[in-house]
Amino acid sequence: MIYLDYQATTPLAAEARDAMLRWLGGAESDTFGNPHSPHRMGRMAAATVEAAREKIAALFPPGGRIVFTGNACEAINLAMRGSASRRKPGIAFSAIEHAAVRDTAFALGNWHEIPVDAKGKADSGDALSEDTGLVAVMAVNNEIGTIQGLAPWREKAREAGALLLVDAVQSYGKIHVEEADLIAISSHKVYGPKGVGALWVRDGLELDPQVTGGLQEGLRSGTLSPALIAGFGAAAQLAQERMEADAAHLEALWTRARELFEDWTLNGSADARWHGNLNIRKDGLDVARLISECRDVMFSAGSACASGSGRPSHVLKAIGLTDAQAKSSIRIGMGRYTTLDEIETAAKAINAAAKEQGL
Ligand code: PLP
Repeated sequence: MIYLDYQATTPLAAEARDAMLRWLGGAESDTFGNPHSPHRMGRMAAATVEAAREKIAALFPPGGRIVFTGNACEAINLAMRGSASRRKPGIAFSAIEHAAVRDTAFALGNWHEIPVDAKGKADSGDALSEDTGLVAVMAVNNEIGTIQGLAPWREKAREAGALLLVDAVQSYGKIHVEEADLIAISSHKVYGPKGVGALWVRDGLELDPQVTGGLQEGLRSGTLSPALIAGFGAAAQLAQERMEADAAHLEALWTRARELFEDWTLNGSADARWHGNLNIRKDGLDVARLISECRDVMFSAGSACASGSGRPSHVLKAIGLTDAQAKSSIRIGMGRYTTLDEIETAAKAINAAAKEQGL
């Protein structure tokens, strides 16, 4: 099988798996302690959590703290809901945000969608209303890879007296994390395990906890998992060490993939883009049929969450595609462990299956 869905999730790095194994904690071991217990086993587990926290924090700018969560959706909910009583009520978010931001904004009410151009760049000329208290702009988009560039948004949020929330799920460990007030990340998008994420909170910023019952993480309740967090920490360290090498590898894959899919239309920007993401279309393509005919190639019809819903992607629509164009798009996600051989083989299969459809 060829895995080309790196925006949905990434394989676990061997280094992350090794870091986790010791902390899975069987009865014969001394590593199953609750990291919140005061005895020696608890303190050992807590030390592992703190060592991982430092590795994860090392990729952020100074001046903030890491709050562990179950995933990025929870981190985003904590940021948006937890700040609600402490800021102005209005929420402005870019039209290509993940459902975690969109749906939470819809639930909280008083929201405004910031339009994006054909490349997926949010319009920084868009006026924020006076009651905007939170601006959410993602660093790298999960469907079309747009790299947003956050400087204008930091400026606009500051002028408006609003907090800037950045969904850095697809950028963390790949490009440098830019400053903001609140930054959400997820372990499983950066070669760590599923089931753990984090919210980076700028120092001095207080939030209301959304999960109560002990507040082990200060802002969040629940026993932390040393194994998941150790894996996340190892993955973060590896991402930091390999950032340039990973980017260079992806550049080579991207260049070859563009040649192999040259008669497809690229959705979004070619340049202001994370090159692990190739979102392309052929008008009239039946994507469900294509996916079922390429059984050995794992790629996506859009975002993992939206695909299967039958609804055209809000991201592709936001950059100006028609419903039909959005529905005839595929997303090929490449990453650290993708090889040139795999891209060649996958392209052959996908192009042959498209030809079967007369395209
Ligand atoms: N934000 C973006 C951009 C994503 O791609 C995802 C995952 O698909 C999420 C948020 C949610 O992450 P998690 O699976 O950790 O809840």
